[in-house]
Amino acid sequence: MTGKSIVDSQFERAANLINLDDYMRRILMRPFREVQVEVPVRMDDGRIEVFTGYRIQHNGARGPCKGGIRYHPDADHDEVLGLATIMTWKTALMDIPFGGAKGGVTVDPKRLSKLELERLTRRFTQRISIVLGPYRDVPAPDVATNAQVMAWILDEYSSRHGYTPAAVTGKPISLGGSLGREEATGRGIMYVMTEYARDFGVPLKGSRVVIQGFGNVGGHLARLLHAEAGAKVIAVADVSGGVVNESGLDIPGLLAHTAARKPVSEWKGGKAIGNEQLWTIPCDWLVPAALGGVITREANARTIDCKVVVEGANEPTTPTADLILEERGIPVIPDFLANAGGVTVSYYEWAQNLQQYRWTHEQVPHGGVCDRITESGGGRTATGELRRTGGRRDGRTEKTHPNNVAGKSLVIPSRPGLVSLGMMPYERFTA
Ligand code: NAD
Repeated sequence: MTGKSIVDSQFERAANLINLDDYMRRILMRPFREVQVEVPVRMDDGRIEVFTGYRIQHNGARGPCKGGIRYHPDADHDEVLGLATIMTWKTALMDIPFGGAKGGVTVDPKRLSKLELERLTRRFTQRISIVLGPYRDVPAPDVATNAQVMAWILDEYSSRHGYTPAAVTGKPISLGGSLGREEATGRGIMYVMTEYARDFGVPLKGSRVVIQGFGNVGGHLARLLHAEAGAKVIAVADVSGGVVNESGLDIPGLLAHTAARKPVSEWKGGKAIGNEQLWTIPCDWLVPAALGGVITREANARTIDCKVVVEGANEPTTPTADLILEERGIPVIPDFLANAGGVTVSYYEWAQNLQQYRWTHEQVPHGGVCDRITESGGGRTATGELRRTGGRRDGRTEKTHPNNVAGKSLVIPSRPGLVSLGMMPYERFTA
């Protein structure tokens, strides 16, 4: 199964459960706007190579479209469309005033020099800039794109429209990025795991965690689980292969190793394993944090040996694998909740840029992810919704946020850092 069909099958199950009207199904199953562009790039040896790029805006009913841009050989129309759809659900679940979009270029970025990557990014931005903008569609990083790529997008967009930092998120701090954005997705996953651990009695401290992917999401998650949650990360893998250590990997050491552009599989602090072996390691938490479609009926859904699957990546579990895991009593925390921390802090970044104001470190403590935007009067949280608790859990007063979107007054907790990522009281995490 591919990107869009995975998403369609999940959507249909959910729509049937709530008896969704046919016209709403039609609207939500199809994208609002799709742009496909050809991107000619002058390579370092003088040749011109032409790459295909996409920007797909799935839905903008709740605010400007929002979603990352990925550079990957498999990034095609179908994959980007599926990912754009998930962004609509994710922003709605987090109740942030964005719609859903995604972009991608079919390219193997490892083949490109830094200058080629810059030329590709600038030309791609030129081609899609007509559909971008702070109130239209706001890109962010995703697979194989980072703050540097976002800086090029900002520069290219601003050269046509004037300086517009809110046109893109995940930027370097010096160009209007938000403190904590880079680690936000990993931090959000850790918070969701913490909440789940508390609610369902699967302790996080001392537990065994296996992570596929050691990039932005997997790397930060491993670091935070190791340093802050006291979990034992026993195995990780990147595209080169993995490494396992039953006593727990030395994550700071492994991060220093990969920061020197060395593959995970060459780390000497554990036993090297192949990518397929990763799925066979018994653990409490299994976190796919690399690519989509990696847990399948054919490959591993019947043999995975964990207590919980946490979808750090988008669409890592196919619908048939989902059903098998359900039969086996293995819960799956879905991507559009588990990895929503990134877009949540992207919202903080966008809000700061629009206000032409930078939140102080005190306002964005703990790496910038501790403020929470709540709906006035409701104070509901994503995990709270799952547990149907509702209501503010901190009892503190709030002040009105300058942004008032779609008739909803958004509010910021008056004591900065009160709640993390719209998911849990900060005090609870540190307790
Ligand atoms: P990244 O490019 O920083 O890292 C990807 C990692 O996956 C790398 O370590 C890479 O080596 C590894 N990988 C690639 N192919 C692999 C394979 N076949 N087997 C094992 N490992 C493999 O990307 P990222 O930003 O960390 O994104 C990872 C996932 O998280 C994607 O699905 C992305 O859509 C999702 N996501 C990212 C963010 C974000 O803020 N970056 C937010 C939400 C969701």
